[in-house]
Amino acid sequence: MRARVFGIVIILLALSAAAFDASAGGPFVVDDVNNSGRAQGWKDDELKWCADPGDLSSTVSHSQAVGWITEAFGKWSQVKLRNASNQSIDTANISISKASSCPTEDIDISNFTDYYNGDAGPTVVVFDDTGDIVAEIVGEENREVVVGLSVPLVSDSAGLNITKGIAIFNGLLLASDNTTLGYDLSTKSSYFKCTVLHELGHLLNLDHSQTNYEYVKNCELGSSCEYGSYIPTMYPELVNTTQGNLNRDDQVTISWLYPTQDFEDEFCVITGKIYDGDGRPLKGVHVTATRTQGTTTPLVEARSFVSGALYPSCSGDSRYYLFGIVPGRSYRVTYEAIGSQFRGASDFEPLDNPPTGFDSGVIPSGSGGETVSCDSGGETIEMADLTIDTGNPCASSSGSGSGSGTTTTSSSSCTLVRGALEAAGAGALVMILAALAALVPVRIKRKDG
Ligand SMILES: [Zn+2]
Repeated sequence: MRARVFGIVIILLALSAAAFDASAGGPFVVDDVNNSGRAQGWKDDELKWCADPGDLSSTVSHSQAVGWITEAFGKWSQVKLRNASNQSIDTANISISKASSCPTEDIDISNFTDYYNGDAGPTVVVFDDTGDIVAEIVGEENREVVVGLSVPLVSDSAGLNITKGIAIFNGLLLASDNTTLGYDLSTKSSYFKCTVLHELGHLLNLDHSQTNYEYVKNCELGSSCEYGSYIPTMYPELVNTTQGNLNRDDQVTISWLYPTQDFEDEFCVITGKIYDGDGRPLKGVHVTATRTQGTTTPLVEARSFVSGALYPSCSGDSRYYLFGIVPGRSYRVTYEAIGSQFRGASDFEPLDNPPTGFDSGVIPSGSGGETVSCDSGGETIEMADLTIDTGNPCASSSGSGSGSGTTTTSSSSCTLVRGALEAAGAGALVMILAALAALVPVRIKRKDG
């Protein structure tokens, strides 16, 4: 009984959080204690985790599963980017290792709330071999739909340092008689591992990214698609097995959250502000920097961010930040409305009803140019202020973060996802998995002190 009540509460909180804290190519949770305009990150750039002692599923053993998790964490913690001299350098400083003191009991439906709460305790990766825990959290109707969930659970009173999280993976989908992910274990495993990488990204506080989405929106899992390899792992849908490896966009985001000195010294950032016709900050506009040269280069070197995403809801300013800009290269910065396919059902925007009804366009440089570049790393490129004369969802807000109808988002999210599930064929069904999972994570609980 306790578990059921707890699960429902978590979902409701999480759905509201999705509308507040999310952005593209940005952080999952931001500092909403001091409203400092900073993303949260794991305390001391260190994540220590414990594996559930049980098996992942009837087909994948505990040790195999630990191998998958370790491999995925390795991809996130060993990120290299090429600098202006085309040298590959370490850019992310996040230490991920097994904790020394871990539970010895199998984590299952009877005890998972001991780990899935805001109390002190280890960060665990739970192997839900029956789907019971997933069903408890997201509903029985999603027992055979949701691959995984992950949540940064606890941060300290500074509002910046994550100290505990949880990831739960649904091993039922790997059982021999389950066909949600396909018909053979090899196919199921490859899709499953993509989702592991994606969910652990959320655990590290990466939000979804829709970088390059205009090129991949027609992709569907199981069939090839042009430019599929440019889809970020943190794209909200699983559409291509290339998402099992980090895209440059993912690499830049993790590097920004946990930067090495080299990342800060050797790359630049593009930033600017967006206002409505009355001079008020306009949050929720999708801004992208793309390299101007070559055919596929813009797809590789594309970064996006939603204006105002570093402050919750309607509070704070409307700045966007485009990190990982390579000195000596030319970029074009463009703006557009958040894609309609991501409204409501997915957590892309800091607002549940981002601004619409305006044309996309180019944001000029501070001196009015169509493209920008920096000479050496560490520089900040300030774009001209942009005014978009359109309806501002935060127009009536006092700026306190009370925002704009989160309750509406919560219910519409559920409706959209469930409606899509009912209508979905097998390919589309899989695409929804990650999107649905993303609705569940994240409401930071804090312990005092
Ligand atoms: Zn997700």
